[in-house]
Amino acid sequence: MRDTLKALRSLQEFDTQIFRLRDELRRLPLELERREKQIEAARAKREDAQRAMRLVEAQVKEIEDLTTTSRQRLRKVENEANSSRGDAATLAAYQVEARNLKRDISAAEEEGLGLVEKVESATKELARMDAEILEAQRLLAEFSTTVQGEMAKANESLGRLLSEREKRSSKAISPEAMDQYQRLITAREGVALAELDGKVCQACFITVPPNVSVRVLRGTQLVTCPSCDRIFYLRD
Ligand SMILES: [Zn+2]
Repeated sequence: MRDTLKALRSLQEFDTQIFRLRDELRRLPLELERREKQIEAARAKREDAQRAMRLVEAQVKEIEDLTTTSRQRLRKVENEANSSRGDAATLAAYQVEARNLKRDISAAEEEGLGLVEKVESATKELARMDAEILEAQRLLAEFSTTVQGEMAKANESLGRLLSEREKRSSKAISPEAMDQYQRLITAREGVALAELDGKVCQACFITVPPNVSVRVLRGTQLVTCPSCDRIFYLRD
């Protein structure tokens, strides 16, 4: 059993690094994807903001058209009032209409002014969003290059480690022990073995019951930590 543990510890030296590299190779593309999605979301938000601004612009145009019509009508009413002779009732009616038209025009102008201000601040906001998106794209391109480099390096190291690990494979490890070890490498993120120091597991730091430490000392079978499940070994 001591040979098995020695062989497993030798394998683990590689497997911890292999696990870390594989994790990195998995993580980097995900991070790239996450950043791409962030930019997509920012673009969608910008499109929404632009649509909202177009609506306000259309409102401004509508108000402008309405006031133009009202002004034309006002001129006509004023002309007719000026050229009307006598008939006080007709004159009064013109005056009432002219007053109403002036009031409407002034209200519309005020509303229009408020909307124009809205369009102006929306235009600024859009420009800010554009600059932000551009910067994010620049950073993404940079990050993408870094990722490619890191992945190439990681793949190279991985290949080297895997071939060296192959050379270290030992007949001292039974298929059952190998299965258990492999399962733990995955489940325990690259660390399948734990030193037992006195009665304390050096991976999860629980104190094990006396019978566990006795079995580890006896060294006739693989003993696992009752808490983290890792295979125990003793310091040389
Ligand atoms: Zn443990």
